[in-house]
Amino acid sequence: MRIYLDHNATTPIHPDVLVAMLPYYRRGFGNPSSIHRFGREARQAVDEARGKVAQLIGARPSEIVFTSGGTEADNLAIKGAVLAREEKGGHIITSAIEHYAVLVTCQYLEKRGFEVSFLPVDHDGFLDPDDVRRAITDRTVLISIMHANHEVGTIEPLEEIGKLATERDIPFHTDAVQSVGKVPIDVGTLGVNLLSLSAHKLYGPKGVGALYIRQGTKILPQVYGGHQELNFRAGTENVAGIIGLGKAAEIALHKTEVEGKRLCWLRDRLWERIKESGGSVQLNGHPTRRLPNTLNVAFDLVEGESLVINLDLRGVAVSTGSACTSGSLEPSHVLLAMGVSPSIARGSVRFSLGMENTQEEIEDTANVLEEVVRRLRLTSPLNEDGMVTSSYGRSIGRKV
Ligand SMILES: *Cc1c(COP(=O)(O)O)cnc(C)c1O
Repeated sequence: MRIYLDHNATTPIHPDVLVAMLPYYRRGFGNPSSIHRFGREARQAVDEARGKVAQLIGARPSEIVFTSGGTEADNLAIKGAVLAREEKGGHIITSAIEHYAVLVTCQYLEKRGFEVSFLPVDHDGFLDPDDVRRAITDRTVLISIMHANHEVGTIEPLEEIGKLATERDIPFHTDAVQSVGKVPIDVGTLGVNLLSLSAHKLYGPKGVGALYIRQGTKILPQVYGGHQELNFRAGTENVAGIIGLGKAAEIALHKTEVEGKRLCWLRDRLWERIKESGGSVQLNGHPTRRLPNTLNVAFDLVEGESLVINLDLRGVAVSTGSACTSGSLEPSHVLLAMGVSPSIARGSVRFSLGMENTQEEIEDTANVLEEVVRRLRLTSPLNEDGMVTSSYGRSIGRKV
């Protein structure tokens, strides 16, 4: 048995995406900047892909810049926007639950003299637009708030924040890497100037993504060289990767809503089974304003890492927090920012469903989970003094 429930970390390539990509590793290998036919064919294919990505998010093709992924798109958006408006001084508004691609970029800028407000969220991981309103100053040069959180799936109130940003003429960026392809997205409705997405989170290849740059938004390139990507991002295009992203966007456009309903049903089924199997559990994330595929659960008296390892031994792949921080044993910064206690955060596991998952897999997962959780709780290394100790014998927090 091999069940993959870690789609927020990455997704398998859709078979049709791979088929679309292969010719560009073979006869279609031309450099899009070349003027001969090899080049022109590659250029045309890249531009078609640009159109498909634009269509998925309600943008114009000329507003899409291909990058090496979500991380680079976030870096380009944030550094590019604030460095283009430096003359205003520099205050950046973001949230405490961003992906590291945004968080660490903002911390870097903080070290370089920018002032950064890392806004808090409530217990559901939801940001209050009024906090954004209050944080805005005359020196604010960028607001960057993620669309949906990667660990708990909470969907943020971008429309309200977008209105504030427009009123004050402040560029508004969103990291939509987790939401593109999972929920319908329209950049106009959201009111964003900049939006990051990544192919490998929507059944495309790794190493390619895109930044939507609304026409007229001032951005300084972060990679210098040739004139590729409308002068926003130098370097010979990852042609096959871009074609793959285009195909993934085309598939997502037609599937998002129906697939969202299916995944939501499966996810809620898993949650019901988890609650039925007894023991104290808690849902992390917003009960309703949440990605349809994401379920983050805190299991009382269980260490998340042990649960992940034991489930893996039984063929079920899940994760604690995000892929970037797993293995660190530090509790998730997202859960801590939501006010979840460190010990409960350490007992939290993320199930993120995707296209290949079936109901049978969900029932199998629930069965295995029930067994593994019961065993871990029985053998839970609780010391007399009430300290929970990890399987390595290290003390990891108070008894909950
Ligand atoms: C995965 C992810 C990223 C990084 O995207 P890469 O393409 O892996 O660089 C950024 N933000 C969020 C919310 C993500 O989930």
